[in-house]
Amino acid sequence: MSSSASPLLVVGSVGLDTVETRAGKKTDVLGGAASYFSVAASFLAPVRLTGVVGTDFPDDHTKLFEAHAVDLAGLERVPGKTFRWSGVYAPDFSTRTTLDTQLNVFSDFRPKLPAAWADSPYVFLANIDPVLQLSVLEQTEKAGKKPKFVACDTMNFWIEGKRADLLNLLERVDMLLLNDEEARQLSGQANLPAAARAIRALGPRAVVIKRGDAGALLFHEGGVFAAPAFPIENVVDPTGAGDSFGGGFMGWIAREGDTSPATIRTAMIMGSVLASFSVEDFSLDRFKRLDLAQIRERFTAFADLVHFEKIKL
Ligand code: AMP
Repeated sequence: MSSSASPLLVVGSVGLDTVETRAGKKTDVLGGAASYFSVAASFLAPVRLTGVVGTDFPDDHTKLFEAHAVDLAGLERVPGKTFRWSGVYAPDFSTRTTLDTQLNVFSDFRPKLPAAWADSPYVFLANIDPVLQLSVLEQTEKAGKKPKFVACDTMNFWIEGKRADLLNLLERVDMLLLNDEEARQLSGQANLPAAARAIRALGPRAVVIKRGDAGALLFHEGGVFAAPAFPIENVVDPTGAGDSFGGGFMGWIAREGDTSPATIRTAMIMGSVLASFSVEDFSLDRFKRLDLAQIRERFTAFADLVHFEKIKL
């Protein structure tokens, strides 16, 4: 990690996932949007994690965060059960069916940022109840020094269930990341550029639409930018790919301390790089054997993947 990188604050779910793909089934493994985000971002910037787990949360998972120097001062451990989610993927990974979501300790969670974290310059509100996302944002704003860049994620569960709160939040963030289905659901527009335009009118000046193995599209003041997904032959588990993308994206921005259109484009590629590693194993297991050299190598392979010359016709 670069010593000059700025701190990156994240709030979101930390939980236990039960996942079935054509590669097998894993029960109660480490999951949650903020977990994937934190560990992916930790390769690039110092991460501050805010969330809650229950007393059943295994110490090994805590140790994984610590091994990646993720600051856990904002991760509460309270009596009760940890957040749980379970899902199953179609054999070709074209669809995912959620079988169960148990909010458990997240139902009563009221995030309270450690005082020293209120001035975090870069903030990511990972997928969780928009009321909790807003509460964290307000605590950073109260410090009198607004964050330099705030991005948030969301999903169908909240677009359906907490739409008014989500709209309230969107008025106050710089960027929204969501997948294509969610973009259509939120905007009521089937066409993605039209959906992005409608979402930008709700507040965020930038929108990233994630499209699984079709890559991601960025709509912002610099126009449109497309990052493909790195072609991976042996996909094991796509869970958390979007959150790992977010971690790579925000990690790069915090490392550079800049949100210019050029840096944001590089961040899109860094997001795709981290997402491409995440899908190569279940849970966060691929990150356990990842290092900066591998990240650098895949980033270079990415540049080769999309490089072409302009022509004079
Ligand atoms: P992704 O594959 O990027 O959509 O993220 C999957 C992760 O999101 C899993 O590890 C889940 O634990 C987590 N998740 C699923 N549903 C929810 C929810 N309603 N709120 C917060 N996190 C969730």
